[in-house]
Amino acid sequence: MSKHQLETKLIHTGVEQGYQERKTGAVNPPIYVSSTYHQDELHNFGPFDYSRSGNPTREIVEKTIAELENGIAGFAFSSGMAAISSAFLLLQAGDHVVVTKDVYGGTFRFVSQLLTQFSVDYTFVDMTNNEEIEQAIRPDTKLIYMETPANPLLQVTDIRKVVELAKQNNALTFLDNTFMTPLYQNPLDLGVDVVLHSATKFLSGHSDIIAGLAVTNDEELAGRLKFVQNTFGAILGAHDSYTLIQGMKTLETRLTKSSQSADKIAHFLDTHQAVEKVYYPGLKDHPGYEIHQSQASSGGAVLSFLLDEKIDAHKFVESMKIPVFAVSLGAVESILSHPATMSHAAMPAAERKERGIEDRLFRLSVGIENVDDLLDDLTQALEQSVVVGN
Ligand SMILES: *Cc1c(COP(=O)(O)O)cnc(C)c1O
Repeated sequence: MSKHQLETKLIHTGVEQGYQERKTGAVNPPIYVSSTYHQDELHNFGPFDYSRSGNPTREIVEKTIAELENGIAGFAFSSGMAAISSAFLLLQAGDHVVVTKDVYGGTFRFVSQLLTQFSVDYTFVDMTNNEEIEQAIRPDTKLIYMETPANPLLQVTDIRKVVELAKQNNALTFLDNTFMTPLYQNPLDLGVDVVLHSATKFLSGHSDIIAGLAVTNDEELAGRLKFVQNTFGAILGAHDSYTLIQGMKTLETRLTKSSQSADKIAHFLDTHQAVEKVYYPGLKDHPGYEIHQSQASSGGAVLSFLLDEKIDAHKFVESMKIPVFAVSLGAVESILSHPATMSHAAMPAAERKERGIEDRLFRLSVGIENVDDLLDDLTQALEQSVVVGN
């Protein structure tokens, strides 16, 4: 399959692996609802023995994501956090990690409140600042953890630069590729050791499952990840694996449309007088624009924007008719979120403000609705939310 383009791989990878249902010719893979597998004889296990260790439906997901990310092995977990936490279990007590301070909230909580129970120390750094990363690296630093573009201001990390720093210091690199997906960014090709995904978002794409993935192109790391997956046991079930297989087939179609719309909306809001600032890595004035262009092929489908002070945020939310107002992102429906009270609610208000996560900041994950309908919806909501007399 590797000679084909990504859209083709998305549809056919599972089938090519020999799982096309031989008996009936069904074009969709069976959901193997079995915890255990009959052994033909003593001392002879077949390819599967117990579904925590391996399940044929889950294996399709794992082979597909490995193929898409140009890795040698993929692993499917019960959530993005399960994938991320499991990958961190490659570390040992006494190790130190350098993590982007703009990391996903759940990852922040895992590193600062759970990993410390196992005596793994951490330093959070501004990963848009290479000097700060360099200064944080210590002799016991074993991992540098990236997320780019990050949430909610779409901050961009220079992947090549961080990989170079990590290699000089014999540290591993992990990257959360949830926002870009393998369609737009292939971190393994840039030297990253482990790519992580919340497949809850764009990869499944329909706000219907919670799932996570890890991929590597290193034999030794693959063996260790397999060991952690089987030992820690946070695997993706067969039914959700099937849902994810179906979702991934349309990744290119959905994300291409969503990203084109996001780009249009970002440009529209950028010049709108009711909006003070737009954060989108596809805009030329985004501070990470050049670096993002060098390592990813699209700005993606997520943007954030700061409403002007004369806009009533409550009214704005009430007036928006099309997007769901909710946490999460990466679905066929547009999702409007409010970072200050959702993803970053646990952060002290002063720190939020310092990081630019103001109460007037909104994040929009653009779905596959008609873009003119979305633009009209934004136009009328902004118009209706102007505070009178201001
Ligand atoms: C949602 C998300 C996660 C966590 O994934 P879950 O599937 O919710 O556990 C991790 N990283 C990023 C960037 C996310 O958006």
